[in-house]
Amino acid sequence: MGAVIAGFPDRAVITEVGPRDGLQSEPAFVSTSEKIRLIQALLDAGLRRFEITSFVSPKAVPQMRDAAEVLAAFRDRKDAHLTALVPNMRGAEAAIEAGVDAMVLFASASESHNLKNVNRSRAGSLAGFSEIARLAEGTGIRLQGAIATAFGCPFEGDVDVGAVVDQARAYVDLGMDHITLGDTTGMATPALVIERVQELKPILADAGLALHFHNTRGVGLACVYAGLSQGITHYESSIGGLGGCPFVPRATGNIATEDLAYLLVESGVETGTDLDRLIEAAQLAERILDRELPGQVMKAGHRLRTAPMDSVRTANG
Ligand code: ZN
Repeated sequence: MGAVIAGFPDRAVITEVGPRDGLQSEPAFVSTSEKIRLIQALLDAGLRRFEITSFVSPKAVPQMRDAAEVLAAFRDRKDAHLTALVPNMRGAEAAIEAGVDAMVLFASASESHNLKNVNRSRAGSLAGFSEIARLAEGTGIRLQGAIATAFGCPFEGDVDVGAVVDQARAYVDLGMDHITLGDTTGMATPALVIERVQELKPILADAGLALHFHNTRGVGLACVYAGLSQGITHYESSIGGLGGCPFVPRATGNIATEDLAYLLVESGVETGTDLDRLIEAAQLAERILDRELPGQVMKAGHRLRTAPMDSVRTANG
């Protein structure tokens, strides 16, 4: 271990969202066996929390039509925490039947993005969550809440921190024990992260707070740094930087898991992951999708990767 950053947490947890958030916007169907192979590689790299699929209408998102099969392949991994995105009652019934560890319910902090994303008002979404909470009662399946557009909305611009706080409070009241602030459109900045985290901390009670950034404007990892400075220990990312949001024009992918793991370990924050194996998993994702992914550490290797002197030409400029 090299230098560490004072004030950062000793450990952080990465939730891998590539299998859901990452693959969801891929137009060509990724076969169930390839999805399983990728998730297995991520488990082998030490990741233990996954947003593994979503129980959405196969008509709306054909890529996720194999949700139950993908989940079934890993349900026996008791050391892994497997969540699935659930948009409505029908999805919740399917997720419970399939045996998820937790259902992730989501609504946007801005009205217009929520209408565009799930065709409901924010109040309508929250009413739906109460029904799902009743359905989940007694099943042992936990509820998590994601707040989309928590740092800005592509249709409305700035999102008031008060709207985010109100939504988090509603989530806590519904019994959610884990809340994610989603930077759906890459509008987060380090300053906004610090502001939102400080406003949210007093109302979270025992619920954990996770941060989910996209690297749309190049400051995804700087936002993680801001979160670490506030003691936040949960971050979401996708292998290779897979993904985006199909309803946000030109939005690019999530921060890459291997880049996040690199930042954490080089800051003295333990993650339980193996960087070389994460890089291999990112390369596997590239082979599966047959295109280059935006992750950077997967291309350069870890910091102390050295080469024989005669293998590199020196350049004057
Ligand atoms: Zn995302």
